[in-house]
Amino acid sequence: MAETRHTRVLIIGSGPAGYTAGVYASRAMLNPLLVQGIEPGGQLTTTTEVENWPGDTEVQGPDLMVRMEAHAKAMGCEIVGDIITALDLSQRPFRASGDSGTAYTADAVILATGARAKWLGLPSEEKFKGFGVSACATCDGFFYRGQEIVVVGGGNTAVEEALFLTNFASKVTLIHRRDELRAEKILQDRLMKNPKIEPLWFHTLEEVVGTDNPLGVEGVRVKHVKTGAITEIAAKGVFIAIGHAPASELVRDQLETHMGGYVVVRPGSTETSVPGVFAAGDLTDHVYRQAVTSAGMGCMAALDAERFLAQAGEVSGRDMTEPLGYGAEATAE
Ligand code: FAD
Ligand code: NAP
Repeated sequence: MAETRHTRVLIIGSGPAGYTAGVYASRAMLNPLLVQGIEPGGQLTTTTEVENWPGDTEVQGPDLMVRMEAHAKAMGCEIVGDIITALDLSQRPFRASGDSGTAYTADAVILATGARAKWLGLPSEEKFKGFGVSACATCDGFFYRGQEIVVVGGGNTAVEEALFLTNFASKVTLIHRRDELRAEKILQDRLMKNPKIEPLWFHTLEEVVGTDNPLGVEGVRVKHVKTGAITEIAAKGVFIAIGHAPASELVRDQLETHMGGYVVVRPGSTETSVPGVFAAGDLTDHVYRQAVTSAGMGCMAALDAERFLAQAGEVSGRDMTEPLGYGAEATAE
């Protein structure tokens, strides 16, 4: 028979938001259980240097996430290698089903499922996925030593991927639909100074072309957005880096969402439209989408969950009937 696990606080997701919620909920003695999902450590495990995590001038993304996991564990958070396949938020305790067959019940839920890579939706992109088409340079760049590569996109991810790929590729063409990058200025600067990178402005990817037997990429057909002119570029690898979409499939028909699936939270808090359900990180943030902001929201979600459970009389501890009130102590003097 399938096992059922009950927890006061179920944290779904193991990126910066989930692990930080794990640290705070553990220190509030809530004995949280965190389900890691298909990508333990989240999006930062797909990158290399992170240069904007406070306290580390430079840290490798996967190393940072190993440290966050260890921190949450050390504080007492139980970390489970499972994927939540269904979630019922219609009544408390909330119910979740794991891919492992385990069922989870929880008095409060913290959603920290983050975001996933977007694809262009071309049939040829789908055909060559895993055979020359990728959305993760860190994972697949190594396979393209001495080869020509194209990267599609104009944001931070595209520019970072293009720069990283110059470690392997003989040439990287950055295909962007405008002539202005969305990426931070410091990254733009590095891109423009890199002799191996050639930007191709005002172009979109029309088709990935390659061989069937064996399945492999030989190049791309690109279209000039103003003239419609089609050009073919030789490439063995195609990296799609056009952004990420919130991973809200589990809750889209149960919680209020907006802007293409981002979970709506009450301003200044992580409360969703269902009491006892909190959301943190990229799942709810269409503006900042950073590790540090996600971690900050993970902290808020754990404090909000603690206050919710205290108000429901389900945990004892500090008086949480008032707003959290850290400022109140300071002004009381
Ligand atoms: P994510 O990191 O997206 O984690 C989501 C978690 O949810 C994953 O663990 C996943 O397994 C889990 N999950 C999803 N669905 C389920 C489910 N059904 N059941 C259980 N678990 C589930 N930000 C910076 O600040 N600095 C950078 O240098 C930087 N570089 C980046 C480089 C790249 C290539 C990318 C893609 C992003 C980068 N970012 C960077 C952005 C940063 O990674 C994100 O803002 C941050 O990871 C979001 O954290 P999160 O906890 O909200 O979610
Ligand atoms: P993003 O900022 O949303 O940029 C997506 C890029 O892809 C844009 O340039 C966009 O073009 C282009 N694009 C989108 N759809 C397209 C389509 N269908 N066809 C062609 N081009 C398309 O996404 P991101 O770069 O993945 O970044 C996501 C978040 O993570 C951001 O908040 C970013 O700051 C953060 N991040 C931070 C770092 C860092 O701090 N070092 C690194 C990586 C990511 P337009 O510009 O024309 O819209």
